[in-house]
Amino acid sequence: MRQEEIIEVLKEKGSFIRTKEDWERFKNFIKDKETPFLVINPERVREKYRLIRENFPEAKIYYAVKANPVKEILEILKEEGSYFDIASIYELDLLLEIGVEPERISFGNTIKKRTHIEYAYKKGVRLFVTDSEEDVKNIAKYAPGSKVFSRILTTGIGADWPLSKKFGAHLDIVVDTLILAKKLGLIPYGVSFHVGSQQRDVGQWDEAIATARFIFNYMRDEEGIELKMLNIGGGLPARYTEPIPEDDLLIKEIRRFVFEDFEDLPEIIIEPGRFLVAEAGIIVSEVVLISKKNYIDPYNWVYLDIGKFGGLIETIDESIKFPIICEREGFPKRVILAGPTCDSMDILYEKSEYYLPEDLKIGDKVFILSTGAYTLTYSSVSFNGFPPLKYYIWEK
Ligand SMILES: *Cc1c(COP(=O)(O)O)cnc(C)c1O
Repeated sequence: MRQEEIIEVLKEKGSFIRTKEDWERFKNFIKDKETPFLVINPERVREKYRLIRENFPEAKIYYAVKANPVKEILEILKEEGSYFDIASIYELDLLLEIGVEPERISFGNTIKKRTHIEYAYKKGVRLFVTDSEEDVKNIAKYAPGSKVFSRILTTGIGADWPLSKKFGAHLDIVVDTLILAKKLGLIPYGVSFHVGSQQRDVGQWDEAIATARFIFNYMRDEEGIELKMLNIGGGLPARYTEPIPEDDLLIKEIRRFVFEDFEDLPEIIIEPGRFLVAEAGIIVSEVVLISKKNYIDPYNWVYLDIGKFGGLIETIDESIKFPIICEREGFPKRVILAGPTCDSMDILYEKSEYYLPEDLKIGDKVFILSTGAYTLTYSSVSFNGFPPLKYYIWEK
């Protein structure tokens, strides 16, 4: 790709590299480092955080730590006044270590051990999600008096990385868990949902918010319980190969849905993960091998030094399509992209159309864009002996 084209793509994909000078500095920065690695710019996370804050000022932003838990990102968000959504007590420890107050933390995993509920409670966490009666009983016993919100099951339709089925419950259970919470001395605080990760259909929020409204009404009219909080979850998309709406329009639209159904605004929580961090990362990788499976094969197989086990697990079923670029110029040729391990599932893209220059060479660098979310922590410890994905912090 010509340099001007590279800059164009980087800008379109929301990257922190925006000018020729940035690109030159970036190349200099990566020059002597062994691939693969992820370059993270925490300042890009700050920009994305502010975008939400400016376009939906009423919402409290709880960063879903699991999307990328590196300290430099957590610190920037702490500084910005962010709240945090944790999946485990280990993420809780990361936050406490950098001085985040437990009042700014929500335990957002519906699946938790009793000992972990107890640990979080002892550390000061007082906000817990649930989606089952057994879990409510555990919370009542090990985190007495805490605020509890119940998660509504959504379909995940429209999402490239759906979270459906496993989390949340149908409406009767949502209602019953809240009633039980009250009975057991907890505070039935509100409801939540997650419309599916990388959700590209904004209408999914509209429906889920309307469902939440229904539950607010039901609890008030039938049970005399005033819910106080609506948690509209994560799911905000990042810039991969498929187009998505402009960030500010998307957030304004979701805000409009909330205001349409809730004239009397409850406390609003939003839990972005991917949206905040994806565009803050670029993976630098190298071509290990190029081959064909027969002499007249129309496809080249291009093997990179990173694959599913090195951090790109979201390419399962080719769900998340990362933009991939390289500096070499030349006629674009359709390729099958695969990782370096001895596992045949370690193919990144076979059905999706990926093109690289026809005279791509072994040793060429490729840049995998929008890789700041769900890469570092998904990389395996040492499958086939490969070390976990490294990262470097980019400072301007
Ligand atoms: C993973 C997760 C999120 C973040 O989802 P994104 O799609 O990355 O925004 C938010 N809330 C909960 C409860 C989650 O499990």
